[in-house]
Amino acid sequence: RFNALLIFLTLFCPCKFIRIPIETVSLNYIKATSMAFESPSNFYESTSTASVDFGGFIFNIPSAVFRPKSSRDIAVLLSFLSASSSAKVSVAARGAGHSIHGQAQAPDGIVIEMDTLPSLIEIHKLMDGEEGFPYADVSGGALWIELLEETLKLGLAPRSWTDYLYLSIGGTLSNAGISGQTFKYGPQITNVLQLEVVTGKGEIVTCSPTQSAELFYAVLGGLGQFGIITRARILLQDAPQQVKWIRLFYDDFQTFIKDQELLILMPEKVDYVEGFIILNENSLRSSSMAFPNQLEFISELRKDSSKVYYCIEFAVHSHKTEEIKIEQVVDDITAKLRYLPSFIYSADVSYYDFLNRVRMEEMILREKELWQVPHPWLNMFVPKYGIEDFKDLLFETISRHDFEGPILLYPLLKDKWDMNTSVVLPEASSATEVDERVIYVVGLLQSANPSRCTKTCLTDLLERQRHMAEMAASNRIGAKQYLGHQPSPDQWRKHFGSKWDRFADRKSRFDPLALLSPGQGIFFRSS
Ligand code: FAD
Repeated sequence: RFNALLIFLTLFCPCKFIRIPIETVSLNYIKATSMAFESPSNFYESTSTASVDFGGFIFNIPSAVFRPKSSRDIAVLLSFLSASSSAKVSVAARGAGHSIHGQAQAPDGIVIEMDTLPSLIEIHKLMDGEEGFPYADVSGGALWIELLEETLKLGLAPRSWTDYLYLSIGGTLSNAGISGQTFKYGPQITNVLQLEVVTGKGEIVTCSPTQSAELFYAVLGGLGQFGIITRARILLQDAPQQVKWIRLFYDDFQTFIKDQELLILMPEKVDYVEGFIILNENSLRSSSMAFPNQLEFISELRKDSSKVYYCIEFAVHSHKTEEIKIEQVVDDITAKLRYLPSFIYSADVSYYDFLNRVRMEEMILREKELWQVPHPWLNMFVPKYGIEDFKDLLFETISRHDFEGPILLYPLLKDKWDMNTSVVLPEASSATEVDERVIYVVGLLQSANPSRCTKTCLTDLLERQRHMAEMAASNRIGAKQYLGHQPSPDQWRKHFGSKWDRFADRKSRFDPLALLSPGQGIFFRSS
């Protein structure tokens, strides 16, 4: 009932009216260490920020907010808490707080605000004749946009991205970090060379595929369960100068997915592949400013509102040194595809603007006060054999005319993922002949505008989503949730499937008291 009250207050009143309980833990600890806990006067504001996330419908108030200045501060806190069986508090690192289901919250526990760690970006550019890869060392609390801005100054950039860059490095590495480059370079978690981690026992460990490898792989995709990423070494490459960004439209699902699969099998030409299901005009809002001519397609949409369209978005990079004309490459690619010939759009943009494209959308939504609304998002990995059934399930479940926000659907190649990491992908099925290497990401990125969707409507959306996620997890479709929430530890065990024993074993090694990331709801602090 308390949570329901908070939802009501946050939707209809400014947060400042919410009563914050006074800190209940660790006062002796604060006195003993005089570390960076917030003073009581700042405590109010910090705890209210740490109680919410981008999802905007789960609210858990922490007892304290911790603002570390170094990895050592975090290590001292975790050592203290793991040694003190009386203080049964748990701890959540909070990156940019862009989770949906309260994953970075710590009910009555301590939230560590990772952005107070100095970003300290150190770039290693290869010297003439030096072998290996350029890389950057960066704080786990830094944002990907900060890393992009620094690396571009030296003509370098990370290889693998998320669509939105105002997410923390530690936050996306705790999940996977995927976008249109994943088919080519793998997710962000396979583009990391080394990590510095503070484990749940308070130990600071530098780990990599050759040093403390079990911890390294556990933490990547590990949902914050094993340790706090305080620094990461991210692989870089030469940054392209320009990007040719193309949108193609389809009215047939099978043709759309076949063309997407063709594109991901041309990594020597194609640098980015995503796609959308277009149910109505809102589905096209995303980055549409880059494609003003797309208005022609919107008039087509208006002619028959019962029709569903699909859009492929792909991109080709150009480097200064290249002699091949980018237009020629794009022509070669599009000649192989079967899109609706009247609906092809292209834009020439800088690499920075291309990667930062969702920011434009954010600004527009902020202006209309539509950014800070509840976001009942659902993301799933769907194996190729289940994608047609998943699409049918999706159309049965959602309300096509009212759906606000994009629906992403694009393919990835499983062999670009390292299965030593903790991430969960659909398992292989013995009952299908379909190419098991291809999996699809489907993202239902729905906004619940409070002026149209009040509390009952939000509850109904979440219930329908839960039902869809359950049906999609059946053997017939074989999907796994990404960035998701499971209602109970038992459901988590089902979600992990054959990976559960390894996940639980890693937990008992690196965070035996289950101090970390309680908001995921996988383990609960025992003593
Ligand atoms: P938080 O929400 O702060 O934390 C997430 C989890 O990680 C929590 O359990 C937290 O305790 C833990 N955690 C945070 N920091 C650390 C750390 N340093 N060490 C260990 N654990 C930590 N994801 C994609 O893969 N691709 C996308 O294209 C994409 N686009 C997005 C666009 C938007 C607008 C939004 C809101 C989200 C998007 N996401 C995407 C999802 C995003 O990657 C995850 O929500 C991610 O967790 C966000 O990072 P954060 O810093 O906000 O994490």
